[in-house]
Amino acid sequence: LKVWFSDFSISTRNRFELVDITRRVEEAVSASKIRDGLCLVYAPHATAAIIANEHEAGLLNDILAKLRGLFPEGAGYLHDRIDDNAHAHLASAFLASSRTFSVSWGRLVRGTWQNIMLVEADGPRTRRIVVEVLGE
Ligand code: ZN
Repeated sequence: LKVWFSDFSISTRNRFELVDITRRVEEAVSASKIRDGLCLVYAPHATAAIIANEHEAGLLNDILAKLRGLFPEGAGYLHDRIDDNAHAHLASAFLASSRTFSVSWGRLVRGTWQNIMLVEADGPRTRRIVVEVLGE
């Protein structure tokens, strides 16, 4: 088994934002030279998440609107007594901070309408993204 670890950082610009990281992830898979295995895409943060979905402008706004609706800011959360980002912790907890994809024939396996995106819920910030490929 070969393990190939990489990471990169990106700066977000808004409180809520979706950042398409598909190209960076595919570059990492390619650089790993692993032909068959798994690719972990992981945001080591408590207030961000990773999703895979269609990169279409209307849908991106729909997702952000839904996030704001599900996890509204300042809705009387206990955590807001010591911080101002309980909504973002909730979004991260329920969406999950990582996703795993298949790697086959040296390529990331994803659907035509599955781009990989960082979900920022407490921006603007600098976020670290880990891409770890395991296989052979
Ligand atoms: Zn917090």
